Amino acid sequence: MRLTTKKVEEILVNLLSEEGLPLIRELAGKFNISEFDLASKTKKDIKIIRKMLYLLYNHNLVGFTRKKDKQKGWYIYYWTLLPESIKFNYFKTKRDLLERLKQQLAQEEKELFFICPNDCIRLDFDQSIGFEFHCPECGELITQDDSQKKIFDLKNKISEIEEELEEYKQQQMVRRTAVKEHKKQPRARKKQAQRMVSKEKKTIKKRPLNKRGKKKKIAK
Ligand SMILES: [Zn+2]
Repeated sequence: MRLTTKKVEEILVNLLSEEGLPLIRELAGKFNISEFDLASKTKKDIKIIRKMLYLLYNHNLVGFTRKKDKQKGWYIYYWTLLPESIKFNYFKTKRDLLERLKQQLAQEEKELFFICPNDCIRLDFDQSIGFEFHCPECGELITQDDSQKKIFDLKNKISEIEEELEEYKQQQMVRRTAVKEHKKQPRARKKQAQRMVSKEKKTIKKRPLNKRGKKKKIAK
């Protein structure tokens, strides 16, 4: 998944509500923005901005550095969004949603549901018995619901999320392998260098000398 600005906004608004949108837009794609700049650009009180930043910080979605203001003697905080954490958070939410949808699907497949003809309510079998098969809102007789459409929609949604998660997993694996390879490299390079040196030595040893002690040219 590419972490587009739109996606970042979608993820962070979930946490901050719509009120946080101007702040997110000021942070997106930039590094180390002072909290005072953020307050003035979003035209919001510094206390509100700080509250939102700490909330993001508690979810590990932003990082900060601080510098002491020499004249005033206090620290100023500079904030940056953390794209990898935002991504991680996004997929964690998806995994939770997937779990809930699977439970819902299992329930839809296992149980009978009853609905009111006036669309007031949908009840499972036990609840329906409790209300003697009458709608508790309007008193109409309730009838068995056809769950097929719901089951179909749930299955679609589930496979959609599973595909997205699988794609993310593959990406993570590629990343991890790349990191591993990167860590391995210095050692591998050293070994390779040693191998080349010993090969060189052997070649030199084997190379016959002519009478003057000079190396013979090797015919190609
Ligand atoms: Zn009803």
